[in-house]
Amino acid sequence: MICDNLDINELGHLTFSGFDTVDLVKKYGTPLYLLDENKIREKCHLYLETMHKYFGKDALPLYASKANCFKQMYKIVGEEHIGIDVVSLGELYTAHAAGFDLSKAFFHGNNKTDEDIYQAIKYNIGYFVVDNEEELLSLQEIAQKEQVVQKILIRITPGIDPHTYVEVATGNVDSKFGNAIATGQADKIVELALRQKNIRLVGLHCHVGSQVFTEDVHLKALRIMLDFVKHIKDKYNYETEKLNLGGGFGVRYVESDPLIDIESKIREIADEFHQVCHKLKIREPQILMEPGRSLIADSGLTLYSVGSVKKIIGYKNYVSVDGGMTDNPRYALYKSSYTCLCANKMRESNNFKCDLVGRCCESGDIIQKDILLPDSIRRNDLIAVCTTGAYNYSMSSNYNRLPKPPVVMLKDKQDYLVVKRESYQDLIRNDI
Ligand SMILES: *Cc1c(COP(=O)(O)O)cnc(C)c1O
Repeated sequence: MICDNLDINELGHLTFSGFDTVDLVKKYGTPLYLLDENKIREKCHLYLETMHKYFGKDALPLYASKANCFKQMYKIVGEEHIGIDVVSLGELYTAHAAGFDLSKAFFHGNNKTDEDIYQAIKYNIGYFVVDNEEELLSLQEIAQKEQVVQKILIRITPGIDPHTYVEVATGNVDSKFGNAIATGQADKIVELALRQKNIRLVGLHCHVGSQVFTEDVHLKALRIMLDFVKHIKDKYNYETEKLNLGGGFGVRYVESDPLIDIESKIREIADEFHQVCHKLKIREPQILMEPGRSLIADSGLTLYSVGSVKKIIGYKNYVSVDGGMTDNPRYALYKSSYTCLCANKMRESNNFKCDLVGRCCESGDIIQKDILLPDSIRRNDLIAVCTTGAYNYSMSSNYNRLPKPPVVMLKDKQDYLVVKRESYQDLIRNDI
């Protein structure tokens, strides 16, 4: 199986985290998002322990909450003693509502409005990750009015190609994010930040992209960032306290994807870090990392009911389900791969070639092309799409006025609702 929390029981049903998926559908309906709480906690723990082991006790993972955000997620992450990165007031509001300690929150984004800045200061957020000069100057002005000194990191563009989809690459010089070292803009914004009275620059940030598998991308970014740490030490006598290396580790969606071992990856980056700091004679900054996908993707599974099996003779076959691009837009956006299974017929062989499509009035509403399902597939069978913990619920929409599915958390022997299914009343809540 594609993830170790999947199995098949004696009824030939797919189990997830020990639960019979057919039973869960009877209880909660479809479409349905499931999350494996034990696995989420395992991953938080793995990141924290591994970073402590190789970078030292002050290292801290931050959950990139755009991957999947709702109150209970922040509660779990908080209990696991890791920090968060947020990219909007909506995420910040949710974290606050969940009682998350916002001194461990880092505010990202390439366009924070004045209102965002003001409210985040009011929330006493720990850190801003400043993207550009205009943001920096606005932050200075608002911080001065509010009589605070705001801690910041500056987002730096190391200028490397992460070899991932262009839509999720962020480390290249021409990215919309951050300040490129190559153009001198990184140097300039550091100098500007150091002159602001109500801003305390505590470090630098970089994030090269997402779903990255290429061996040396993170190592290259690290070396470039440490060279820059050395450069600003020599030039401005400025010592970088924190270095945030972002997220981006790829996860396995289909059998042909490699499996990244998080511990060995972190060890490799840490070895290089200690060596280069020593060589450059710079004091080792505290290391932060921002896993999103690799922390939560394989904790998720989505279940759908089949509505129709359409055989266009001489052409192709379609299996339609009761969700689609509204709950998982990733194929439509990036042609992302997924493993799709018939959850109630796991013992049957899969010989029926088809495209798995959603119910939206849109030909691009595809979950996965050219998959194999049982020949007997028919209306009311159940389809499971694996590894949907990251960038599914958080990217969901109400297109075609479809209510969003609920999120159910699975822990030990207990299943519990963490996000209710949207009602039709919810859909017209803001209509006047
Ligand atoms: C999206 C994002 C992450 C997380 O990326 P993953 O690929 O999900 O690990 C981390 N940091 C920043 C700034 C991001 O935008």
